[in-house]
Amino acid sequence: MSIKQKLGLALGGLMLLLVSSAFLSLMLIYQIDENVQKLGLVEGPLEEAALELKINAGEGARAIILYSIDKQAVHVDRLKDSDAGFKRSMKEFLRLAETDEQRTSAIKVANLHDGLQELGVRIIDNVDRGEPIILQLRNDVVEIDEVIDQRLQPLVNRNDPMSLSKLEAVLEMEINIDEAFAAIQIYIDRPSPELRQVVLDSEQGFEKFENVYRDSSLSTEENQWMKIIDGDFQEAVALGESAMDLADEKRSLIWQLEASVDAIDRVVVEDIHPRIRAESAKALEDAKSSSNSAVLVTGIFALLGILIGVATMMIVGRNILNPIVRLRNASIELGAGDLSVRTDIKSRDEIGDLANSFNQMAEAREEAVIRERRSAEENSVLAEIGRVVTESSEISEIYDPLAQEIQKLITHDRIAINTVDLVTGTFVRDVKGLDAPGRRPDEAAPLSGSFTEAIVNSNSAMLIQPDNIDELSQQIPGLVPVYKAGARSFIGVPLVSRNEIIGALHINSINENNYDERDLSLALRIANQISGALSNARLYRQNRLVEAQREALIVELERSNQELDQFAHIASHDLQEPLRMVASYTQLLARRYKDKLDSDANDFIAFAVDGAKRMQAQINDLLAFSRITTQVVEYDSANCQDIFDMAISNLAGSIKESGAVVTRDSLPTVQADASQLVSVFQNIIGNGIKYHGADSPCIHVSAVESGDKWLFPISDNGIGIEAEFAERIFVIFQRLHGKSEYSGTGIGLAICKKVVDRHGGRIWVESEPQKGSTFWFTLPMG
Ligand code: ADP
Repeated sequence: MSIKQKLGLALGGLMLLLVSSAFLSLMLIYQIDENVQKLGLVEGPLEEAALELKINAGEGARAIILYSIDKQAVHVDRLKDSDAGFKRSMKEFLRLAETDEQRTSAIKVANLHDGLQELGVRIIDNVDRGEPIILQLRNDVVEIDEVIDQRLQPLVNRNDPMSLSKLEAVLEMEINIDEAFAAIQIYIDRPSPELRQVVLDSEQGFEKFENVYRDSSLSTEENQWMKIIDGDFQEAVALGESAMDLADEKRSLIWQLEASVDAIDRVVVEDIHPRIRAESAKALEDAKSSSNSAVLVTGIFALLGILIGVATMMIVGRNILNPIVRLRNASIELGAGDLSVRTDIKSRDEIGDLANSFNQMAEAREEAVIRERRSAEENSVLAEIGRVVTESSEISEIYDPLAQEIQKLITHDRIAINTVDLVTGTFVRDVKGLDAPGRRPDEAAPLSGSFTEAIVNSNSAMLIQPDNIDELSQQIPGLVPVYKAGARSFIGVPLVSRNEIIGALHINSINENNYDERDLSLALRIANQISGALSNARLYRQNRLVEAQREALIVELERSNQELDQFAHIASHDLQEPLRMVASYTQLLARRYKDKLDSDANDFIAFAVDGAKRMQAQINDLLAFSRITTQVVEYDSANCQDIFDMAISNLAGSIKESGAVVTRDSLPTVQADASQLVSVFQNIIGNGIKYHGADSPCIHVSAVESGDKWLFPISDNGIGIEAEFAERIFVIFQRLHGKSEYSGTGIGLAICKKVVDRHGGRIWVESEPQKGSTFWFTLPMG
C-alpha cells in the first residue's frame, strides 16, 4: 500500500469519524432543539389551546345561563361563537398535542363539550318552553286581578259589612294570586322548596278566600266573574306547576351544565395541564439527556478521534517517519564512508521503493568503489611493474620482483617471457615457476607449434583452458609439456613494441578454468608495461654490444695510433739518415754529372734530387708531428709575444722574400708548452705568407679574452679557403693545392690541431676565398 493510500486511509477514517461525529452531534442538537422547542414553542400554545378550550366551554355555558336568565338572542349567538371558538381551540390543541394522553384528554373535553352543548339546547328549549307558560300565567293572573279589581270590587257595597268581608276575600284572593305568581316568577330563577311552599300556600290562600267569597251570597254576575276567576286560577295553578317544573328542570340542567363546565375545567386543569407539564418536564428531561448524550457522544468521538489520531501518528511514525529516519541514518553512514550499509525497509510503498533505490545505489556505489579500489590497486601494481621493469635492463635480474607483482594481479604458478626472433623463427624464454623438464631457459627454441607462435600469428591475447590433454595437443602442441608439468590454464599475450611483436608473455595456472576475460585484459596491460622494458632490454643488449665493439675499436685505434706514432717517429727518425744520404748523393750526382750524360739523364737526376728533398721535408715534418704525440707536454708560463717573436724570427727569410707585413696586438701569457706553441704560430703565419694573393701578404695576430679561455685570431689577406675544405685542411697530408702551385707537405695544420687539442683548446678557420682567412684557436686561461 502506498503512503498516499495509507495516509488517505488514516485521514479518510478520521474524516469519517469527524463527519459521523458531526452528524451525530447535529442529530443530538436537533433533538435538543426539538425538546427545547417543545418546551418553548409547543408547551405555551398547547396550554393556551387547552385554556381556550376551557374558556370557550365556560363562555358557552355562561351564554346559556345568561339566556336562561334574560332570554336575549345575543346569548345564543355567543353560544355559537363559543362553540366555534371551542372547535378551533380543539383543532389547534390536537394539532399541537404531543402525546396520546393529551389527545385522549382533549377527546374527553370534546365529549364533555358536546354534552354541554346538548344541555345548552335543552336549557334553551326549557327556557323557550317556559316563556309562553309564564306569559299565559301572567295573563291569567292579570285577568284574575282585573276581574277582581274591575268587576268584583265595584260590586262590593262598602257600606255593607258583609260586603266588606267579600271585598277582603277578593283582595286576599288578589294578594294570594299575586304572591303565588311572584313566588313562581322567583322560583323560575331560583327554585327552592320554600318558594314552592309559598306558591302552594298562596294558592291555598286564594282557594280559601275564593271559598270565603263564594260562601257569601253572590250575585249572578259575581258568580259569573268567579267562574272566570276560578277558571283562570285553575289554569294558573297548572301553569304555575308547569313553570316551576320547567324551572326545576332548568335548574337541574344548569347544574349539569355547570358540572360539565367544571368537568371540562377539571380535565383541562387536572388532566391536560399536568400532562403538558409532564411532557415539558419529559422534554426537558429529554433535552437534558440529549445534551448529556451529546456531551457523551462528543466525548466518545473526541476520544475516538484522539485514539485514531494517535493511531494515525503511530502508523505514520511506524510506516513513514521511522523508515525515513532509518533511511536518513543509512544515508549519513553511507556518506561517512560505510559502503556496506543497507536498509531492511520492506514496506511496499514509496519509502520501500526509496529504500530499494538506496540499497541499489549503495550496492552500485560499493561495487564502484571496489572496482575503483581494484582498478587503483591494479594501476599501482602495474605502475610497480613498470618501475620494476625499468630497474634493470636485464630481465633475469628483475624476474623475481616482476613475478611477485604479477602474482598480485593474476594468480599463477608459472610465468614466462619469451623473446622471439622472427628472422630465425626461434624464441628464447625466461621462465619463473614450474617448467617442463628438459626445457632450458635462454636456449633458443623453434617457434613452430609453440603457444608463442600462435600468439605471434594471431597478434592477440589468447586464453587456453583445455578439457583434456588431447584437446590441447590438437590446439597448441607446444603446450603439452607444460600441461604435463601440471599447468591447466594458459594465458598468452603478445609483447609488442613499436608495432613489432618482440615476444609473448605466458601466465599459467595449475587450476582448471582459472582465468577469465578480466585476467586476459589485465595480462594485456601487464604485457604493455613489459613490452617497452623488454624492447629496451633488447636495445640495451644491442647497445651494450655496440658499445663493447666501440670500446674495443678505440682500444685498437689507440693501440694502432701508438704503433703508428712510434712507426712514424721511428720511420721518420730512422729514414732521415739514409734519406740524407740519398739526397746528398743525388745532389753530388747532379753536380758532377750534369750535362755529362744525355738530357734525359739530367732530368732524371733533377727529379731524384727533388724527390729526395721533398721526402726529407716530409720526413722532417712527420717527425715533428710524431714528436708532438710522443713528447710529454711541459706546461709552463709562456708569453705569447715571445712566442710570436720566435716564430717571426724562424720565418724571417720568407717574410723578407715575400715582403710580408706581420703585425700583432698585445698578447697574453698562457700555461702551455712554448716550443709547441711556436710551431702553431709559425705554421699559421707561414701559411698566410705562402698562400698570399696578388697583394703582398699582410698578417695580423691578436688575442681576445672569452670566458675562461683566450681566443687567438690570426688573419691574412691570402687566397682564402672554400668552406667545404675548412675541416679537411686540419687532417694530416691533406692539401688543397698541388706541389707545383704551392710547396708543402700537408702536415703543418695537422700539427697545429694536435698541439691545440693537447692543450685542451680548439682550432678552426673562417675564410672567404680570394679575400683572406682567419685561423682561430683557443687556449685555456692560466
Ligand atoms: P702545406 O702548407 O704544407 O701544404 P698545411 O697543413 O700547412 O700543409 O696546409 C694544408 C693546406 O691548407 C695547404 O696545402 C693549403 O692548401 C691550405 N692552406 C693552409 N693555410 C692556408 C692559408 N693561409 N690560405 C689558403 N690556404 C691555406
